[in-house]
Amino acid sequence: MAPLDRDVVIIGAGPSGLSAAYELRKAGKTVAVLEARDRVGGRTWTDTMDGATIEIGGQWISPDQTALYSLIEELGIETFERYKQGKSVYIAEDGTRTAYDGEDFPVGEATIAEMNKLIAELDRITAEIDPDVPWEHPRAAELDMISFHHWLRTISSDESACNNIGLFIAGGMLTKPAHTFSALQALLMSASAGSFSNLVDEDFILDRRMVGTMQGVSIAVAARLGDDVYLNNPVLKLDWSQEGVTAYGADVTVNAKKVVIAVPPNLYSRISYNPPLPRRQHITHQHQSMGLVIKVHAVYSTPFWREEGLSATCFGPNQLVQEVYDNTYHGESTGTLVGFISDLKADAMFELSEAARKEAILQGLAEYLGERALTPEVFYLSDFGSEEWTRGAYATSYDLGGLYRFGPAQNENVGPIYFSSSDLAGEGYQHVDGAVRMGRRTAARIIAAVDGTEYDSSYNGVDPLNALATVTA
Ligand SMILES: Cc1cc2nc3c(=O)[nH]c(=O)nc-3n(C[C@H](O)[C@H](O)[C@H](O)COP(=O)(O)OP(=O)(O)OC[C@H]3O[C@@H](n4cnc5c(N)ncnc54)[C@H](O)[C@@H]3O)c2cc1C
Repeated sequence: MAPLDRDVVIIGAGPSGLSAAYELRKAGKTVAVLEARDRVGGRTWTDTMDGATIEIGGQWISPDQTALYSLIEELGIETFERYKQGKSVYIAEDGTRTAYDGEDFPVGEATIAEMNKLIAELDRITAEIDPDVPWEHPRAAELDMISFHHWLRTISSDESACNNIGLFIAGGMLTKPAHTFSALQALLMSASAGSFSNLVDEDFILDRRMVGTMQGVSIAVAARLGDDVYLNNPVLKLDWSQEGVTAYGADVTVNAKKVVIAVPPNLYSRISYNPPLPRRQHITHQHQSMGLVIKVHAVYSTPFWREEGLSATCFGPNQLVQEVYDNTYHGESTGTLVGFISDLKADAMFELSEAARKEAILQGLAEYLGERALTPEVFYLSDFGSEEWTRGAYATSYDLGGLYRFGPAQNENVGPIYFSSSDLAGEGYQHVDGAVRMGRRTAARIIAAVDGTEYDSSYNGVDPLNALATVTA
């Protein structure tokens, strides 16, 4: 195949790369998207197993995620609410199981007071942080020097309160132990959702899902890009100069003015750059690493927990399965549970045989929801850590001290090379919303550079109606 000539080549057909391509196309630019996998969507991925719809990757949307909401509105995609009725279940450190109503974990009053103190302090500092530039906070250097684990203990001496609060960001979001990332990184995570209170409120952050699944968003955008999306084309080599780039896929080569590298930062070094990237990028990229979480699905003939007045929302900071939710897909009569096993516990699970792993995880679900959880009709666990084109889950974060030191460089372009992914976002960091924001923002920066116009930092997508003619051309 003769090399293609385009204004912009995009590497990666996840939500960020596809959003960038879509916006560029709306602005009248020619694009080609080269995707390594045989599908679009990246860390959003759906499969149907024995009739059950399983969202293996990203799935939830929260009310603050306005970039993603505006995209799905444009695409005509609707959402449905997660099942939330009934009591939640909490398993304490001593193994006591309690079904409870309301927002507070059923722990002693003293621990509740300490948790509220931690939440208030996290909310207070989060309100001072601009998620786009957390390294500009006056205390950024100091907050990036201390691990989240130790920082929590400078505010409260209640171990149980610190573990409960730590869980929301460590196991629950960054999927790394709380001693491996900084307080500043944790505060970026909460600032990305508007406040720490938003982040810990499962009814907010895990509010709704897509009818047609989250991967369906990428599939719908890719459909609008038509033949300009090339699957099975990992880009392993990129020639570049100030004049432009040549990206080499498996069977497609693209010459372009600019390139968007829309892959997670831990994969930047899979590409061989000619000439090499500058020192700053070489070093920065080594400090962004993926967390690890297993997302496990168990499908039952009925959502039996509902009969017992339970929502299936379950938490246990010391449990193997640290969080569980009702994940029954829109319109299905079966009942689906989703559970999460993070960092060190995920490592331990992958040391077991498949049968032993399944038994341990189902036992973990049964500890919350009873014996009926032991016998699902479908059992599936995601293993993004083994996926060559992701290598972990959910996303990347910096090691201790990395955000303050390297963050300011993470969004700089290197000549014609631009980086875009949810991992680099402020608002919507680590979420599909952040991927869409970054895609749109990167497109706007490129449009300004190519057209010689001013970059509008408030840009939030090309007006779909005005641009319709170019998109469908
Ligand atoms: C298990 C799991 C659960 C999650 N849950 C949620 C959730 O509920 N809500 C939410 O908002 N977010 C969730 N996320 C996060 C969300 O899925 C990601 O933030 C989002 O997909 C990131 O989009 P992206 O385009 O930046 O990167 P990706 O989705 O990773 O896309 C990058 C693409 O680049 C491709 N690629 C990589 N290297 C190359 C190469 N060299 N050449 C060509 N192509 C390449 C990859 O194949 C991939 O398709 C979850 C993620 C996981 C893994």
